Amino acid sequence: MPWIDLRSDTVTQPTAAMRAAMLAAEVGDDVYGEDPTVNALQARLAAELGFAEGLFLPSGTQSNLTALMSHCERGDEYLVGMQAHTYKYEGGGAAVLGSIQPQPIMHADDGTLPLDAVAHAIKPIDPHFARTRLLALENTWHGRALPLDYLAAARALCDEHRLALHLDGARLFNAAIACALPAREITRHFDSVSVCFSKGLGAPVGSVLVGSHALIDKARRWRKVTGGGWRQAGILAAGCLYALDHHVERLADDHARAARLADGLRGLPGLVVSAQHSNMVFIDLPADQLTAFKAHLESERIRLSIGYLPQIRMVTHLDIDDAAITRTLDAFSRFFR
Ligand SMILES: *Cc1c(COP(=O)(O)O)cnc(C)c1O
Repeated sequence: MPWIDLRSDTVTQPTAAMRAAMLAAEVGDDVYGEDPTVNALQARLAAELGFAEGLFLPSGTQSNLTALMSHCERGDEYLVGMQAHTYKYEGGGAAVLGSIQPQPIMHADDGTLPLDAVAHAIKPIDPHFARTRLLALENTWHGRALPLDYLAAARALCDEHRLALHLDGARLFNAAIACALPAREITRHFDSVSVCFSKGLGAPVGSVLVGSHALIDKARRWRKVTGGGWRQAGILAAGCLYALDHHVERLADDHARAARLADGLRGLPGLVVSAQHSNMVFIDLPADQLTAFKAHLESERIRLSIGYLPQIRMVTHLDIDDAAITRTLDAFSRFFR
């Protein structure tokens, strides 16, 4: 019986057609800016999202880091959610490598950072304080698409205080599909956006940062400094281009399967489905059942994300079909009934 891996949408395997596209890619030395496939990917995403330029990077962590280091100087500060990936799950890179002070903000339940709290955290211009330079948001956040009117209000606040606005859009296209809008309707509020191709889009490697020419010039330098200047990266960019052509609209299937999974689980005694948004389902389980539950899932050959968050997380993706949802629901029933 094959494993069903619901831990994350990062676990997807490149499809045969994606591998074929990668194999056929025209390549060059990207440090010289001469890889035609990388250049095509960067230009295409920048145009689609409404930015001047794009930069292909090995990971979302490096993409966010180079964005922060390009917006901020040593001794500057960025405002960020306390549970945001950039703050919590990227090894503190902005502080460690960029000498940029994070100012964490408590999230509201819907994943937004309340703008009065954001405004309150902006430091006066005074030698006592770090210089507040940037607000970083995340969309989707734990699967939730941030409300569009919130994004507009965040933009207005940043304009008022002359802050830049960065989006960790690791799952930008999940947000766009969840809102039934072109991604550009989300990204138009931001000065820079980082998008992951190795999540629900199903490519093996890669993120793209988009922004102005000036910002991407700086980011290209920081990418090199942090060891991300790569050579014939077009092999990887070809997988990302393939994903843009074939794996964006189908994210709606992942969202529908997550909804079906959540609906099926809601009927089970002793289990609380705390949330379902886009391709993510979160459940709560009494602590005294966790060990037995883990062993049961192991025997059913199912993997979930247990232990990173207070809740248990399940994520649907390219390699989770309807049969996998049925098998998962059956396995849960056998434990909880
Ligand atoms: C995955 C992810 C990233 C980047 O992760 P990498 O593993 O470095 O590519 C950034 N932000 C969010 C919200 C993510 O889920």
